[in-house]
Amino acid sequence: MKKSLVALTSALLVCVSVAGASELNDAVKKDYDDYLADLWDHFHQNPELSLVEFRTAERMAKELRAAGFTVTEEVGGTGVVAIMENGPGPLVMMRADMDGLPVEEKSGLPNASRAQQRDPITGNVVPVMHACGHDVHITSLVGTARQMAARKDEWSGTIMLVVQPAEERVLGARAMRADNIWERFGLPDYALAFHVGAGSPAGKIDAPEGPSYAGADTVDIIVHGIGAHGASPHRGKDPVLIGSQIVVALQTLVARELPPRAPGVVTVGSFHSGTKHNIISDEAHLQLTVRNTNLETREILLRGIERIAMNIGRAAGLPEDKLPEVIISEESVPPTINDPNLARRLKQAWSEAMGDDALFEEKQEGMGAEDFPYFTTDPGITSVYWGIGGTPQEDLDAEEAGGPMVPSHHSALFKIAPEPSVRAGVESTVVALLELMGD
Ligand SMILES: [Zn+2]
Ligand SMILES: [Zn+2]
Repeated sequence: MKKSLVALTSALLVCVSVAGASELNDAVKKDYDDYLADLWDHFHQNPELSLVEFRTAERMAKELRAAGFTVTEEVGGTGVVAIMENGPGPLVMMRADMDGLPVEEKSGLPNASRAQQRDPITGNVVPVMHACGHDVHITSLVGTARQMAARKDEWSGTIMLVVQPAEERVLGARAMRADNIWERFGLPDYALAFHVGAGSPAGKIDAPEGPSYAGADTVDIIVHGIGAHGASPHRGKDPVLIGSQIVVALQTLVARELPPRAPGVVTVGSFHSGTKHNIISDEAHLQLTVRNTNLETREILLRGIERIAMNIGRAAGLPEDKLPEVIISEESVPPTINDPNLARRLKQAWSEAMGDDALFEEKQEGMGAEDFPYFTTDPGITSVYWGIGGTPQEDLDAEEAGGPMVPSHHSALFKIAPEPSVRAGVESTVVALLELMGD
């Protein structure tokens, strides 16, 4: 008797939660059809470059204000912060980045971007495209705002929606921190964000229980040589040869110094030296990107690069005051590391609300970086950064079967299926917020 009562109660609970889930699913679909589809179209056709997202920020402020949030503009440049207070409870921050890229869209889609803008780096007028899917992020943020405003009786606490500039140049999160976002609007108890991904099935969610993006450092190595005639190498110190030995030796860091299960990347992306066939140059300049998924790996790689560069200089017989200079840029990005408990909790909530097949596990292969950890480190904030698939399963299957490649992020051919991506973006965010702030 007791047993069947328990079974009945849990069956009822399942009914209630599935009913609640499909209610949310229906509400988000309706809002997509009535409102968000056009909004995505607008953002997709009007992308703006990092740091100059003026019209995007203005539109986001207008949308979030219309949804009932208290909005502050120009936080860290073009950043927007929207707050909704709704009684006691946690302060939960959700971030969406809004910048496009200097890429000419060649997707062939009817709503392809034809936008142009003056690039603040070069001063040239360049084509602009949402070639990373940030238009999905901001459209979903508006959808989330509208759902949460309509559901104020289902949650209590404070929501902070953050529209962030210049993610592509890893400047925006730092700029918002430097503009005292926490001091002005409160230090969040939880911080959330997602990225849409062209390599994953549209509308599916993945949240790694640990590192989700790599940490990245930018390193320059200046090799000082001694110039000479190309026919008299004994009169000089050849920085091309010394630099080449450094490039090769750097690969031993990952191959022989990192523990085999600790991933890392050392890429020499640029090597410049010399002017002419028969001149031994007096300088070589190497530019590196160095990736990690934890701070110990970062230390091993950065200290190793210094040690190898200096000592190859010594082995070549360079005097102590002419050893290679290793310059580690301050523009480093820490790894994005999900709180494992929160990731598990949210995955549970997503599969309960959206069905078990809403989740998938993404193959983690690359070492892309993100500037979101500027929000979540120092002071540390419990956070989860999840992925939402953006490409129809049949396109992924076709690629797998040797068909056309699915275009990658930042490519002129990049495209995202907006409906499943935006709807999953809104739904997963609403479910996460209700999980953390629900009654
Ligand atoms: Zn990107
Ligand atoms: Zn991106």
